Amino acid sequence: MRDLVDAPEPMGAGHKKVIIVAGGAGFLGSALCARLLNAGHSIVCVDNLLTGDFANVAHLATNPQFRFIRHDIIAPLRLAGPVDEIYNMACPASPPRYQTDPIHTFRTCVEGSLNLLNLAEEKQARILQSSTSEVYGDPEISLQVESYRGNVNTVGPRACYDEGKRASETLFWEYGAHRGLETRIARIFNTYGPRMHPEDGRVVSNFIVQALRGEALTVYGDGSQTRSFCFVDDLVEGLVRLMASDEKMPVNLGNPGEFTMLELADKVLAKIGSDLPVCFRPLPKDDPRQRCPDISRAKRILGWEPRVSLDRGLDLTIPWFAERLSAERRKGALVS
Ligand code: UDP
Repeated sequence: MRDLVDAPEPMGAGHKKVIIVAGGAGFLGSALCARLLNAGHSIVCVDNLLTGDFANVAHLATNPQFRFIRHDIIAPLRLAGPVDEIYNMACPASPPRYQTDPIHTFRTCVEGSLNLLNLAEEKQARILQSSTSEVYGDPEISLQVESYRGNVNTVGPRACYDEGKRASETLFWEYGAHRGLETRIARIFNTYGPRMHPEDGRVVSNFIVQALRGEALTVYGDGSQTRSFCFVDDLVEGLVRLMASDEKMPVNLGNPGEFTMLELADKVLAKIGSDLPVCFRPLPKDDPRQRCPDISRAKRILGWEPRVSLDRGLDLTIPWFAERLSAERRKGALVS
């Protein structure tokens, strides 16, 4: 980890804003970088490449308005020149990934947020935190509305992420309410789409990759637990609208279509390989029973709601995984 002193390039004609995307080489961050770059902004993509992958932004790197900095936000980030907005998308989000180094996950949420908040204060930049539906823990209510305070285990395997994100919300709220910073908090529900890592470990990528490889789909528990899946483009649109709004309190962003994991398995099997079996595996500890966002506030404040159904989103996602797996096979054949 290192502190960075970096002078920005002179901005070209048509420049709009200078925007830092921390975690910009991850699944969500890279989609956000692409969207903001397309809108004419200059992007500083910051990533430690722990779970992010430079390949996710390689197609953006030829654009002179895009800069990549390898940096872990646990260390302060120093940048010369103006910054208008900061999106903090930096943190492993898949349970097996964030549980690999729980202390680092917690530090990323808390110290990383603090470092970016201090940078935002120095630059007088707006800053948005990618929080999570995990702040609701294993919710006792459905739908989960922003005023629900959650049911989180402080000492379980998910705590490093859940409590880290909860603490980061507190930091954002303090800087927004009492230090005059323009802060935004997005509570992001399960999101999927192209550029998820095939070995990420989350259910959508696992099921698609398993089906494409002709393997049994691993259903944890009895598969009756629910999740609500939002397509990445919808989510990115919600983030951009939230940043542009005046709302400092948390806003849920997710797709309220709610499915059991068995229903998801059926959908993936119907699209890829209906004769494949499912196999049941133990339910991980503290795995939430249900999850479905109340998006009334997002609708009212941002004029936002998801447009892409799970069926359509899977149709957009499966070909990307198919291409990625066959590229890996071609590469493997060349090496061996
Ligand atoms: N899950 C599953 N099979 C898998 C991976 C996950 O049945 O191969 C389940 C997991 O137990 C959880 C749900 O799918 O109930 C969503 O898991 P994911 O890791 O995608 O997200 P999160 O638990 O963070 O919502």
